[in-house]
Amino acid sequence: MSLSLADILAARRRISGVAAKTPLVPSPFLEKTAETEFLLKLEIVQPIGAFKLRGAANAVFALGRDVKGVTCCSTGNHGRGIAYAARARGLQAVVCMSRLVPQAKVDGIRALGAEVRIVGESQDEAQAESRRLAKEEGFAEISPFDDPLVIAGQGTIGLELLEQRPDLGTVLIPLSGGGLAGGIAFATKRIKPDIRVVGITMDRGAAMYESIRAGRPVEVREVESLADSLGGGIGLHNQHSFALCRDYLDDIVLVTEEEIYRAMQVHYFEDRIVCEGASAVGAAALLAGKLGKVPGPIASIVTGRNLDMGVFTDIISGRDVRLGDITIKGMPYGA
Ligand SMILES: *Cc1c(COP(=O)(O)O)cnc(C)c1O
Repeated sequence: MSLSLADILAARRRISGVAAKTPLVPSPFLEKTAETEFLLKLEIVQPIGAFKLRGAANAVFALGRDVKGVTCCSTGNHGRGIAYAARARGLQAVVCMSRLVPQAKVDGIRALGAEVRIVGESQDEAQAESRRLAKEEGFAEISPFDDPLVIAGQGTIGLELLEQRPDLGTVLIPLSGGGLAGGIAFATKRIKPDIRVVGITMDRGAAMYESIRAGRPVEVREVESLADSLGGGIGLHNQHSFALCRDYLDDIVLVTEEEIYRAMQVHYFEDRIVCEGASAVGAAALLAGKLGKVPGPIASIVTGRNLDMGVFTDIISGRDVRLGDITIKGMPYGA
């Protein structure tokens, strides 16, 4: 893939009117465990509550004038990002979803001005409709992670990090399709080759981890997780994000559901932060002692805060959480 630092600088210019430059704040509590400065990059303060606006806005704003609208089939933060960016550019957005998607997610994306098209019983059928809009009706289909413009948009976080703290030693990045980790790893290593970049994901259904081990994109069984934004595959025909993560990540660390649960409590009670399970994996790896010795200061990307508040209330109250076929045993904080 021919990504360059110039692409990431161009992305920053393109999205500067719509995506926020986010704060990098210390966590005095996590610093004690890390024995070095531990900083939180607060992407939760983006207008859609997650970093995905960066990549979505870069891809949407780069489209030519003749495009009819934009489409995707993401039910999560990418769908929100596309909806928000399309509205900012005055373009129609159609987000395709299956009938199984919870109403709250449908409402969230509609509230951002996108049309939600409910098609079929599975994500595959929703994907097929999104493809059809692209092929037959002149819409641009934008992937959540396997698109050079999306990757360059997410990479703008890397530029900000090194401007905010040129002395940064390590970056911890929640990892799913790898657009975020690939973009940040590329940007930071171009500027500072000896920085350590670690991808972190849950230990069940870790698609990028399994793919890198296998040497090619592989399918994994999708399971429920507190880090629901990290679910899903990387695509068997992955073109960009697989190679970037393979070539630029120093390590991938896997965390358990219990470790994510505990880290969400710590972010809430100690840092006073409400965030998704996906955002807490950096702290989870640190607290579980899985990070090993890495150079400081350390920055953890707190990627989003679009979570089910019922589940969140259970977690901070120390109650059991049922997810599909598993139950995460409740653990009151401080007990
Ligand atoms: C999408 C997402 C991620 C992972 O990003 P990828 O580019 O798919 O690796 C992490 N956290 C949140 C909150 C997300 O929405």
